Amino acid sequence: MAGFDGKVIALTGGVGGAKLARGLTEVLSPDQLLIVANTADDFEHLGLSISPDLDSVMYALADQNDTERGWGLAGESWQAMESLKALGGDDWFRLGDKDLATHLWRSQLLRDGHSLSDTTRLLCQALGLHHRLIPMSDDPVRTLVATERGELGFQHYFVREQCEPKVSGFRFAGIETASPAAELMDWLADDRLAAIVICPSNPFVSVDPILQLQGVRAAMQASPAPVVAVSPIVGGMAVKGPAAKMMEELSMPASADAVAQWYGDLLNGYVMDIVDRNLASSLSVPNKVIPTLMSSLASKRKLALDVLDFSRHLN
Ligand code: GDP
Repeated sequence: MAGFDGKVIALTGGVGGAKLARGLTEVLSPDQLLIVANTADDFEHLGLSISPDLDSVMYALADQNDTERGWGLAGESWQAMESLKALGGDDWFRLGDKDLATHLWRSQLLRDGHSLSDTTRLLCQALGLHHRLIPMSDDPVRTLVATERGELGFQHYFVREQCEPKVSGFRFAGIETASPAAELMDWLADDRLAAIVICPSNPFVSVDPILQLQGVRAAMQASPAPVVAVSPIVGGMAVKGPAAKMMEELSMPASADAVAQWYGDLLNGYVMDIVDRNLASSLSVPNKVIPTLMSSLASKRKLALDVLDFSRHLN
């Protein structure tokens, strides 16, 4: 980016965060940007290792994501799913034919002894990506959702139960022993680090697992680089997904300022959508009010530029 010196870390979940990550790849060079994706949504299904957030970001960075459906690959077909259903197999987690190839190959690479970060690097290379996308950890962490119907694995809650059961909390199994990605810790300690961007992702199930990895929050706080989050809540609603519903069920107001309060003193800056401009004066953290809906490549690029420009004026 002309005029932006230094390195940037972007913490992201899947579809929402991927949009800003794509914008950041437009304005930062590959050696300036590290995109770190949540892996607590990962699960094993039909013998396959599935990493939904890594894949959402990877497909978005490669401009191969389906923007209408909102997840998976564009130009997808569903023959394997139909055949699976006809055989009486589990078909609640939709896997397109092309997407299946990603899961087959990732699963094979993992079985061959590659780490998840190695596997991600190979997949990203194969898709022609130059920017770095890494999993938050190579160790398994699994989100468990406490609901009125008992504790559910994340994908069972999210996909099979369509986020219907009321949630009362989350647990990240394996988080105490999982090591954060070494590259993330190196970048956090790098004196060329100029900004840490928390993408507009679900704060509870996409961003929190990354923040809860041993040493990550402390390293973010110790870094002189400002931490800037972009609100995933716009006008009291999630653009997509259960973030607002979760907030209500967790007895928080579903609002952009409540997300900032939830991140608390981790933040040095907060970006909210212009529809939420009336909330700006109630925030104690420096904030910027701008359009944050990313429906086109131009809007992703613009938000990335605005977030970086804002971060430059913090600290
Ligand atoms: P998931 O893991 O696929 O659910 O995706 P994320 O956690 O990365 O993102 C989900 C969040 O992204 C939701 O809370 C959405 O409201 C938010 N989101 C999606 N698109 C946009 C957008 O264009 N702008 C903003 N500000 N938030 C968005």
